[in-house]
Amino acid sequence: MPREVIDGRYLHEHIEGFLNQATEDAYAFMVDYNGRLTNSTARTGERSMFGDFRCTLCSHRWKSGMVCTQLWYSKAADTYRTQIHAQKCRRCNHYVEPDMDVDNYVQKVTKAISLWKGLRLREDPDEDQKQTPPHDTERCHGCLVGICRRKDGLPAHSIQYRRRR
Ligand SMILES: [Zn+2]
Ligand SMILES: [Zn+2]
Repeated sequence: MPREVIDGRYLHEHIEGFLNQATEDAYAFMVDYNGRLTNSTARTGERSMFGDFRCTLCSHRWKSGMVCTQLWYSKAADTYRTQIHAQKCRRCNHYVEPDMDVDNYVQKVTKAISLWKGLRLREDPDEDQKQTPPHDTERCHGCLVGICRRKDGLPAHSIQYRRRR
């Protein structure tokens, strides 16, 4: 069965590769992966990333620019962790794991860590160039568990609240 949440450790080699080659001061650091970080031991945040999906049951394919990815970073231990949230196939309603856009993932994760380390200032929200369909909040696991940032910037729970009224 596809997982609903995927540990980002398998992408750590790409983070290391990027940091090894980076020349900007903002990326003059190395960081280890720690899959045990939690909200109580680390700072956490969420980033939307690009990924491709292909349903293993019905072969339906789609792209998303809102693959919900939660990040944790412990400044004290200088370690980070990520969790990538799956999306449901709209044809057969089964969860599908994303095939992540690695460059986009590396950029978002290292930017967040650099910010949290105090090596760069916060910029305007990322203006991603690629066009993808609107976010299907009913089928995003990150939306389901309430950590996904919606495209309009409002947290998922406030939108659901508004809808109910
Ligand atoms: Zn399907
Ligand atoms: Zn979502």
